[in-house]
Amino acid sequence: MMSVFTKIITGEIPAFKVAENEDFIAFLDINPNAPGHTLCVPKKEVDYIFDLDGMTYFDLMDFSREVAIALKEEVPCLRVGMSVIGLEVPHVHVHLIPLRDMEDMRFSNKVSMSKEDMQDLADRVKARFDS
Ligand code: AMP
Repeated sequence: MMSVFTKIITGEIPAFKVAENEDFIAFLDINPNAPGHTLCVPKKEVDYIFDLDGMTYFDLMDFSREVAIALKEEVPCLRVGMSVIGLEVPHVHVHLIPLRDMEDMRFSNKVSMSKEDMQDLADRVKARFDS
């Protein structure tokens, strides 16, 4: 069965996209810890990050770095934190979380954002990434 992230990649379900290239996509987490919480995902569907081949792993880190730079430029924060969990969605993804304090890394802490605010934020980060 296709993962929910493959469905986003194929356009079957919508997402607030912030970056994309041939091999990777980044979109806002639908249930963010903090404004700008983003997921960076390889288009090739693999469950566990350490099962990725070495090249895809390093390319994912490079892509995530570029997305983090765009996020930091657009979202007021101290720095962008990075985490890999994967207990909910079995398709590799790197969480990038703009941090205002340590609590923003706690996945029990959530912020509520309107669809309009999510779309506006995604568009602004994408413009930074594309520039
Ligand atoms: P985990 O697999 O434990 O790293 O968590 C999966 C993350 O994916 C959670 O933070 C969810 O909020 C997020 N998520 C699940 N479905 C979607 C979706 N359709 N669009 C964006 N984010 C999602």
